[in-house]
Amino acid sequence: MSDQPDTIRDEVVVTLEYTLLVDGEVLDSSRDSEPIQFIQGQGHIVPGLEKELYGMTVRETRMVVVPPAEGYGEIDPDSFVIVNRSEFPAEVSLETGIPLQVQSSDGDVFEARIASVEGDEVRLDLNHELAGKELHFDVEVVSLRQATPEEIAHGHIHDHQHGHGDSE
Ligand code: ZN
Repeated sequence: MSDQPDTIRDEVVVTLEYTLLVDGEVLDSSRDSEPIQFIQGQGHIVPGLEKELYGMTVRETRMVVVPPAEGYGEIDPDSFVIVNRSEFPAEVSLETGIPLQVQSSDGDVFEARIASVEGDEVRLDLNHELAGKELHFDVEVVSLRQATPEEIAHGHIHDHQHGHGDSE
């Protein structure tokens, strides 16, 4: 006996193969490692993808196109800062596109990329690297099961090999 779900709905644990393409290039694929698992409806994956998964069945495949607003957001013009070249360690090569971690005066660490360099002014882009991008997800549903009440309460999956101790 089982009440295993046959379609994706809230509180179902989804095991999903996916390939993410941006501008026609593969950026990331579960096929290189293992499928992802998450509880549907809890915002563990980008909203535009989660929304499109409702109702899918095991082994169903779909190409989902996610606009920036439902992916990693639009590019925020306020998320650029100008930093003087002298603020960087000498060994950092300051070229457009180079990813960096920057620390603010109160200790927060940000991922950034060099947007441009003009004279002594280095302009950093603090937007998510996929901000402003349309995301193409090629997905296949591998398996579905009902999340346990405990998993729903914790907001994450308990797998039997790697239980995390507070519950199992
Ligand atoms: Zn837990």
